Amino acid sequence: MSPGRNNGREPIPFLDLKAEYREQKAEVLAAIERVLDSMQLYDGPETRALEEEFARYCCARHAIAVGSGTDALLLTYAALGLGAGDEVIVPSHTFIATVAPLAFLGATPVFVDIDPQTFAIDPERVEAAITPRTKAIVAVHLYGHPADMARIWEIAAQHGIAVVEDACQAVGARYRGRPVGSLGDAAAFSFVFTKNLRAYGDAGMVTTNRDDLAEQLRRLRDHGRVSKYEHAAFGLNCRIDELQATIVRVALRRLEERTERRRHIARRYTEAFRGTDVLPPSESDQVRHVYHLYVVRSRWRGELAAHLNAVGIATGVHYPIPCHLQEPCRKYGFGAGSLPETERAAGEILSLPVYPELTDEQVDRIIGEVLAAADVTLTARSAA
Ligand SMILES: *Cc1c(COP(=O)(O)O)cnc(C)c1O
Repeated sequence: MSPGRNNGREPIPFLDLKAEYREQKAEVLAAIERVLDSMQLYDGPETRALEEEFARYCCARHAIAVGSGTDALLLTYAALGLGAGDEVIVPSHTFIATVAPLAFLGATPVFVDIDPQTFAIDPERVEAAITPRTKAIVAVHLYGHPADMARIWEIAAQHGIAVVEDACQAVGARYRGRPVGSLGDAAAFSFVFTKNLRAYGDAGMVTTNRDDLAEQLRRLRDHGRVSKYEHAAFGLNCRIDELQATIVRVALRRLEERTERRRHIARRYTEAFRGTDVLPPSESDQVRHVYHLYVVRSRWRGELAAHLNAVGIATGVHYPIPCHLQEPCRKYGFGAGSLPETERAAGEILSLPVYPELTDEQVDRIIGEVLAAADVTLTARSAA
């Protein structure tokens, strides 16, 4: 690939944290100063305010702030009592943190294939994977598109099993008008700096409408404490700190506006790519997609990525190796060919930059280069 094909234009990164920081710098610095002046570093007013604001945002009864999205999943699984001998239905087309905490608790992940339209777990295959040992279904709202919850509720109710939402990529998304975070027994969110709602470091949240789970989650995140020196259960240190809590609060005030900008950019891409061999993501009319990632599919993914890279446009693949093919998951008995839709997706997906700070000019440039690459692959195919 010849250098300089971006004609001296600035490269477009996959994420631009500095641009966002510039916009909210004064507010963030004031919030940090307020926390440091108080020297209340944990379990203080910022954590409580964030929990209240976030519960309201998700229309959930409780929000329990924790140290990361992984903590949120681990504590949720633990609060549900998942452990040795229990089977939990999960997609394989997800980040490994959906699955690893189950393994740490001794539970057995049972991988189920995806619906290629939404990249989320396919409810018809969930039904077929249920056994007398199944204790829960994990619905991952991957890329920001909610899973097909109605069928999942139906199956879960029929079999008396729990539903966990992995909403780490989907803050602000809605399913039939209801926000994610209020659609299952409990939901896990991540505020790591790469997600739509971000801390400047690690942070996460669990939301739930169940009082019993909320109480256990509050204990589990802080050494099983019921008072300073009294421990009602074993727990861990999965607390959020006040600095991260206050930063997430600042970001929450801008989240809706930023989500709308993501949706606007996504709409422009989708209109431009229709009818080419670069397949845009679909958005069911039952949902509000929040485009944490804008993921296209192409049988020519390698060529497309190479072209964009050569002209200075960063891309990603989320995720190139499905969980069931990762080394530590081999013991669960899945292998190449077990989940055809998942494996096909892993070979065809490409994530384009979609953050709110992208300028209209940058969006135009990305569209132009994707279409140019589509023409290139078309020529390559007809020559073949
Ligand atoms: C980011 C993410 C997690 C883990 O969140 P962390 O805050 O990084 O621990 C879990 N599941 C999914 C789907 C994610 O995207």
